[in-house]
Amino acid sequence: MKRVFLKLSGEALAGEKKTGFDEPTVTEVARQVKQIVDGGCQVGIVIGGGNFWRGRSSETIDRTKADQIGMLATIMNCIYVSEIFRSVGMMTQILTPFECGSMTKLFSKDRASKYFEKGMVVFFAGGTGHPYFSTDTGIVLRAIEMDAEGIFLAKAIDGVYDSDPKVNPAAKKYDEVSIQEVIDKKLAVVDLTASIMCMENKMPMYVFGLNEPDSIVNAMSGKFNGTKVTV
Ligand code: UDP
Repeated sequence: MKRVFLKLSGEALAGEKKTGFDEPTVTEVARQVKQIVDGGCQVGIVIGGGNFWRGRSSETIDRTKADQIGMLATIMNCIYVSEIFRSVGMMTQILTPFECGSMTKLFSKDRASKYFEKGMVVFFAGGTGHPYFSTDTGIVLRAIEMDAEGIFLAKAIDGVYDSDPKVNPAAKKYDEVSIQEVIDKKLAVVDLTASIMCMENKMPMYVFGLNEPDSIVNAMSGKFNGTKVTV
């Protein structure tokens, strides 16, 4: 594939600590992404914010304000991961849907395309820029806008199952499942808004387990053993 998007959850950056950053975990992600980029593939990155904050977790403050904190958390994550990527020799840029002074650049399709063409890894931080959305929706939106060929979702679980394998030991993993079935059976690959956008715009997703050795490289170079969500 020439251009792909990779989603990392906020929790994935935190490793065992569950909050903040776990440097060895992020450095390992960087090593693998470098291998993909060195092979000539353009990679866009979206990172969640759950290692710091989730808008819907506060019952006290206004949801719009809570979501603003969540969006800022995703930017902190991107600044950290971008720097780790640079430390292993990649060129990076962070784009946001709103101005963050000199910390990031404002997103536009032309600007992102220019960075991709220069061989940079482009971070799409700050989600959609709007409350009541998620970074799931953010990645689908940007992947569609940027004409990506697919979205890779690195998860704590190694694919999509017909029920929760932690609860049901007989749960069956799909090699392939249609986005329609994901929606109908509420399989929770990405949230409903993001699922509908994938379906309408024919954007395939590839779900795989981040914790397996070389999982990102394997998933993106054809040795995929997760679940492909077809459209
Ligand atoms: N968020 C938002 N709009 C977006 C993307 C994210 O308001 O377009 C906020 C929201 O509060 C969310 C938080 O940022 O809870 C972190 O994003 P993530 O997608 O990780 O949230 P999750 O789905 O885990 O709550």
